[in-house]
Amino acid sequence: MSKILIVEDEEVIRQLITVSLVKSGFEYREAGNAAEARRLIEEEMPDLMLLDWMLPGLSGIDFARALKKNPDTRKLPIIMLTARSEERNKVDGLDAGIDDYITKPFSQVELTARIRAVLRRTAPAGIPQTLEIGGLQLDQNTHRVTVGNLELSFTPTEYRLLHFLMTHPERVYSRSQLLDNAWPNDSFVEERTVDVHIRRLRKLLEPSGHDRLVQTVRGAGYRLSTRTR
Ligand code: CA
Repeated sequence: MSKILIVEDEEVIRQLITVSLVKSGFEYREAGNAAEARRLIEEEMPDLMLLDWMLPGLSGIDFARALKKNPDTRKLPIIMLTARSEERNKVDGLDAGIDDYITKPFSQVELTARIRAVLRRTAPAGIPQTLEIGGLQLDQNTHRVTVGNLELSFTPTEYRLLHFLMTHPERVYSRSQLLDNAWPNDSFVEERTVDVHIRRLRKLLEPSGHDRLVQTVRGAGYRLSTRTR
C-alpha cells in the first residue's frame, strides 16, 4: 500500500484529499507546513508527497527544491498543488524537479489518476526492498531477516526495532526516540522496555555474531553501526 504525505495548510482541502486517498486504498499522513513534513519524512519515507505551493513559513516550492538537493530525499516523488494564479510559475517548479502538478480545484478522479501515474513512473527506482548491513539482510517485503542462508526468526517488536535501526544506521537514538519510531503509536510503554527489547534483539543476532552491530552509547542511547566501538 503506497504511503502519501499531504502537505497542505488548508484543512478543508486536506480533508478532501484524505477522503480520495482512503477511497483509493492509499495510506496517508498529514502536515500543515514544511517543518512538520520534514519531521514526518525523517520518521518514515513516504512513497509520494502532495505539496501545496502556498504554505505558511517555507513555501512549497522552496521546500521541494531543498528536498531535491538532499541525496536522502532526492528520489521522493512530488506532486505540487497549485492555484490557477500560480500556473505561470510552473517553470520554476520544473527547475526544482517537481514530478507533476495539479491545479486547484481538482476532482478526486484526477487526483488519484495523477498519483498513480507518478508512482508508476517513479516506483522502479524507488526504495530498495532489501537492506543489508555487515552481511545482515532484511527484506522489507517479506519481513525476513537472513545471514547468508540462515534465516533468523524475530518477534514483531524486535523486527520493528531492527528495521528502524537498519534504515537509520550510524545514528544514535535515545530510548524515547526508539519508542516513538519503533513502537506503535498507541502503545504506552516505559523507556526501560527499550532496554529489554534491545537485549532480546542482541540475543537473536548473537548466533551470527551480528549482536555487535547493536551498540550502546553511554548516556545517549543506542545505535546500529558496523564500526567497532
Ligand atoms: Ca495553502
